[in-house]
Amino acid sequence: MPVDKAKYDETKAHDVALLQLEIAAEMLRLDKGLKMKLERPKRVLIVNFPVKMDNGDLQNFTGYRIQHSITRGPAKGGIRYHPSVDLEEVSALAAWMTWKSAVVNIPYGGAKGGVKCNPKEMSKGELERMTRRYTYEIAPIIGPEKDIPAPDVYTDAETMAWIMDTYSMLQGYCIPGVVTGKPIELGGSLGRKEATAQGCVYTIQEAAKHLGMDLEKSSVAVQGFGNVGYNCAQIIHRLGGKVIALSDSRGGIYNAEGLIPERVLKYKEQSGSVVNYKEADEITNEDLLELECDILIPAALENQITKENAAKIRAKIIAEGANGPTTPSADDILFENGVFIIPDILCNAGGVTVSYFEWVQNIQALFWTLDEVNDQLGRIMRRSFWDVVSITKKEKVHMRTAAWMLGVGRVAEATRLRGIYP
Ligand code: NAD
Repeated sequence: MPVDKAKYDETKAHDVALLQLEIAAEMLRLDKGLKMKLERPKRVLIVNFPVKMDNGDLQNFTGYRIQHSITRGPAKGGIRYHPSVDLEEVSALAAWMTWKSAVVNIPYGGAKGGVKCNPKEMSKGELERMTRRYTYEIAPIIGPEKDIPAPDVYTDAETMAWIMDTYSMLQGYCIPGVVTGKPIELGGSLGRKEATAQGCVYTIQEAAKHLGMDLEKSSVAVQGFGNVGYNCAQIIHRLGGKVIALSDSRGGIYNAEGLIPERVLKYKEQSGSVVNYKEADEITNEDLLELECDILIPAALENQITKENAAKIRAKIIAEGANGPTTPSADDILFENGVFIIPDILCNAGGVTVSYFEWVQNIQALFWTLDEVNDQLGRIMRRSFWDVVSITKKEKVHMRTAAWMLGVGRVAEATRLRGIYP
């Protein structure tokens, strides 16, 4: 039966996640009951808690931890601090983690967490108190064998250190394996900070080979200049690619001759934004997406490439550093126009993959060199890329549907083999 796309509201990440699951389920001819199980999160925890702000007032915050699946292993996924955080957004992101872990075939389920807040308006002390109290509230369901948080938008290694410390204090001993993306000094893995971007670039290199493009002669535009965006730009620049545009939440910059990401970062650290960078012209985030370039890397938030602007995209490759940057109708337009998409659940899976390496190192108390981390990451990203490409050929589907078929197929098979308890 053809999938009725009109049933879903594309502006909502949750609906998009359900639609993509339905498309994959249809292609895989999944049993109805099995599909129903995969549609719903396994466990949802909503917590409301007070935090003492710097001015002495108490403020209430709402936080979430959603475990979409624990069928293939412990739940795994980041924690986001953003005003847009709500039940539906976190649910969608948790489901994406399940499919992502399965696409790269690491033994995890999927989870996501978040607190609805505006971290830009909070002091470090307020963020630390909020993180510690949120950790206390979700402590019953997290743990190295249960659910392992990691950084996401506006959370970083320091946030993970606060979570690890709070959880360890509650248990009475040091438990580094409860989170990944920690500082190296606390058991973090070498290469974790850059892992999502490094993984993204490994898939871009394979895509360039696949399409007969030369990365060294390529021009690249990157939306979002945080962990993923900056590191993608930096690695590509190091490999000889030309980074012609960069942006953050306040706007973008463009220089046809190429930008030096490290210099832009230094400028952003002083000024708070890439905007007004001297050696570039100002552009909007919308302009950046529509630039003539070889590779476009959306590395900010969801729903950036929609049916409104998809036809105007001129990039040859879209490498989805962000989760859910492209809506399903935009996908169809891009496919028609011959744009090659490296879908999020494949493209940005380097982060969860090195998180897995970090967790393995913590459990074994045995640490790897940076070369070992990047060799293993490269091996997994390359294998996964070609696994997805081979499904596109066999099933005559585009890269997104192929990636979903791979991820959903693996989780469905694990669910079928385990059976329904009791
Ligand atoms: P981050 O907080 O480090 O950076 C986010 C960047 O996006 C910032 O530069 C911010 O200014 C910019 N931004 C915010 N709103 C924007 C807008 N409307 N337009 C343009 N730019 C905007 O976050 P991150 O960790 O780099 O995550 C970015 C994306 O990558 C998210 O979708 C996240 O879910 C995804 N992701 C991150 C990881 C990871 O390991 N950090 C792993 C997988 C996926």
